[in-house]
Amino acid sequence: MNITQKSSPNHYNGRNGWKPDMIVCHITDGNYDGAVSWLCNPRAEASAHYVVSRAGQVAQLVSLTDAAWCNGTSATAGHAYHYSTSTLPLVRQRATNANYYTISIEHEGMYNQTHGTLTAAQQAATVELIKHIRAEVQRLYGIIIPVDRQHIVGHCEISPREKPTCPGEKFPWTDILRQVQGASQAKPAAIRYALKTATVRSDTTMDITLPLVHSYIYKLTCAAGRPLTNSCNSNIIDISFDHQSGNDYFFRCTAKRRGCAGVAVNGHKIFAVKVV
Ligand SMILES: [Zn+2]
Repeated sequence: MNITQKSSPNHYNGRNGWKPDMIVCHITDGNYDGAVSWLCNPRAEASAHYVVSRAGQVAQLVSLTDAAWCNGTSATAGHAYHYSTSTLPLVRQRATNANYYTISIEHEGMYNQTHGTLTAAQQAATVELIKHIRAEVQRLYGIIIPVDRQHIVGHCEISPREKPTCPGEKFPWTDILRQVQGASQAKPAAIRYALKTATVRSDTTMDITLPLVHSYIYKLTCAAGRPLTNSCNSNIIDISFDHQSGNDYFFRCTAKRRGCAGVAVNGHKIFAVKVV
């Protein structure tokens, strides 16, 4: 997609060890050109990864590998932006600055006029941008951002007390998620499952450690169809099919509770997951 590259000095270098897996939508409460230039001005002490205009133009201000200053949360007790005020379990549990693990998109609009509605061109650009971000994050970090309302969220859900109208209650979440999902759901209708005797190669054979609520994608390669894989203790980790690419099948292992559990393929444990 066509993205105008700008450079804002308002960002952290890197992400303090975090990987991005959450996309946060905002409203500019100002016009596109003004927002782009202000968010690149050091005096603003604020930025966003992307700004989308009402005409559907997209500018990138901060690299995906750096944390923008857009939806920060504080770990200082009593702070107005304390992470505990978030309505999102992921934000509360991570107990850190949400800028570290988020990617921010500003949408041109005035809340008191739009209440978060987007123009058709703007919505189409946002859908393409989210697809682009997901592909880039997969390429850069090996993470597939889930298309759901825990991972594609509003600033109002991160800081509901301070930012209740960002991006606005009429923001078209359902349409955007459905349109983003549309592309990734174009899979063959019939699933061919491999027999239990099929030869399967796993990209993961060493045990891993996973923080609570985080997930890990592992790849199983099998020429005979989708291999059988499961969690040895579904109280601790959940396994779900993520996507297929040729003979490569990607599964998502999500940490639910502290403890240790094995991941099995064809009834044999191939690695263990320690949830911390
Ligand atoms: Zn915001």
